[in-house]
Amino acid sequence: MTTIAFIGLGNMGGPMAANLVKAGHKVSGFDLVEASKAAAKASGVTIADSAAASAKGADVVITMLPAGKHVVSVWTDIVPEITKGALIIDCSTIDVDSARTAHGLASKAGLLSVDAPVSGGVGGATNATLTFMCGGDAKAFAAAKPVLEAMGKKIVHCGDPGAGQAAKICNNMILGISMIAVGEAFALAEKLGLSHQALFDVSSTSSGQCWSLTSYCPVPGPVPASPANNGYKPGFASALMVKDLTLAQDAASAAGAVTPLGKHAQELYKAFDAAGHGGVDFSGIIQHVRAMAK
Ligand code: NAD
Repeated sequence: MTTIAFIGLGNMGGPMAANLVKAGHKVSGFDLVEASKAAAKASGVTIADSAAASAKGADVVITMLPAGKHVVSVWTDIVPEITKGALIIDCSTIDVDSARTAHGLASKAGLLSVDAPVSGGVGGATNATLTFMCGGDAKAFAAAKPVLEAMGKKIVHCGDPGAGQAAKICNNMILGISMIAVGEAFALAEKLGLSHQALFDVSSTSSGQCWSLTSYCPVPGPVPASPANNGYKPGFASALMVKDLTLAQDAASAAGAVTPLGKHAQELYKAFDAAGHGGVDFSGIIQHVRAMAK
C-alpha cells in the first residue's frame, strides 16, 4: 500500500483518485470545490484541509488541475512539504514551459517528478483505461509506472521532463484537425446525396480511416457509442479542444514550428466555442461546418 496525495478532484481527478483507493492505496485529497471533495470522500478518499496538508508525508503526490498557472502555484506550495525522495506527478494538460518549471521546483527539493498528461477522457478516468504520456528521468518514470497502472491501461515514457506534455499537445492537434476533416467529408457527402453509412463503410476500411471516423464518428448511426448519438453531450468538450489547440499553437510559435492546419483548426473551434458551444462535444464541430455553407 502506498500513501498517495491527490490534488484536484474534478471531472478527471475524482474518478482517478477513486481508482487508486480501489487498488488498495491510502489516498488523501484536496480540492477547492466542496462538491468535488464530497464526491471524493464518498469514494474513500480522506479529505485534507489544504493541498500542503494532503501532500505532507505522502509517498506519491498527484496533481490534476486546469492549467499551467495552477500547477506551478500548487507545486510551489506543496513541494516544501513533501518528503525528500518522494515522487510528484502532474497529470493535467498544460504548456511545456510550465511543466518544465514544475519539474525544476521538484528537482531542487530532491523529489522525483513526472509530467503525465492523459488521453481517454472522463470515461477512461472512470474505467481506469487512460493512456498516460510521461516525461521525466528513467528513475522517476519507473517509480510512477505502477501507480499510473491503477488508473490506466497504457503508460508510455515519452522522454525527458516536458515530453509527456509535448506528446499530448501533438496528439490532440492531430485529433482536432482529423475531426474537422471527417466532419467536412460527411457534410460534403450530405450535399452530394451520399448516405452517412455508405461513406462510413467505404472510408472506415479505406485510406480515409482514422480514429475520429471509426471510434468517434461525428454523425449518428455508424458508431453507436459516439457522442453524435447522444446529442453531442461530452465526451470531450469543445472548450477543452480550444485549450489544447491553443497550447499547440503557443508551443509551435515558441519552438519555431509551422502548423497551418493546427492554426486553422484552432480558429474553427474558437468560433464554435464563441457561438456558445464550448460545452458541446468536440465532434459537434460538424454542425459548425454545415452552418458555414448556409
Ligand atoms: P475540472 O475543472 O473538472 O477539475 C479541475 C479541478 O481542479 C477542479 O475541481 C478545481 O476546483 C481544482 N482546482 C483548481 N485549482 C486548485 C487548487 N489551487 N487547489 C486544489 N484544487 C484546485 O477539470 P478536468 O476535466 O478534471 O480536467 C483536469 C485536467 O485534465 C485539465 O488540465 C484538462 O485539460 C485535462 N484533461 C481533461 C479531460 C476531460 O475529458 N475532462 C481529458 C484529458 C485531459
